[in-house]
Amino acid sequence: MSLYGDYDPQNIFALILRGEAPSYKIYEDADVLAFLDVFPQSRGHVLVIPKASQARNILEVEPAVLGAMMATVQRLTRVIVDELKPDGVQIAQFNGAPAGQTVYHIHIHIIPRWEGEEAGVHGRGKADPEELKLLQARLVERISSIG
Ligand code: 5GP
Repeated sequence: MSLYGDYDPQNIFALILRGEAPSYKIYEDADVLAFLDVFPQSRGHVLVIPKASQARNILEVEPAVLGAMMATVQRLTRVIVDELKPDGVQIAQFNGAPAGQTVYHIHIHIIPRWEGEEAGVHGRGKADPEELKLLQARLVERISSIG
């Protein structure tokens, strides 16, 4: 898959958005959905995706949609830092297979990082569902307590 092509409505994030595939949702508003990555590079790895846009990547995304995504990335990064207390946070976004993109519905990664802990390999190593459920509950609770 390259930078160029048609949007595939059967991609996994489209299925999640339509409720046809499960996800560990942590936040949703009119514009965006955020959920845990099931092949996380670290504890609390979150993905933020737009709900209505069919942009595959940064070249295609509408500026207002990108703005809504970034506002949510900042908000959720604050929540993750408050709740999980990482030493750092990586924000990542990949465009095209050679850059590491594997799902062709634009998304932004929030990857908490801890001193002395290597990040996992991108898109590999499925997390324990029980651990994801616990993380989801902690982050949802923290978001609702902030309001
Ligand atoms: P990309 O490689 O396109 O930047 O990121 C796609 C991300 O989606 C990867 O980090 C991968 O682990 C994640 N991913 C792939 N399949 C699923 C899935 O079924 N559910 C969730 N929550 N994440 C997924």
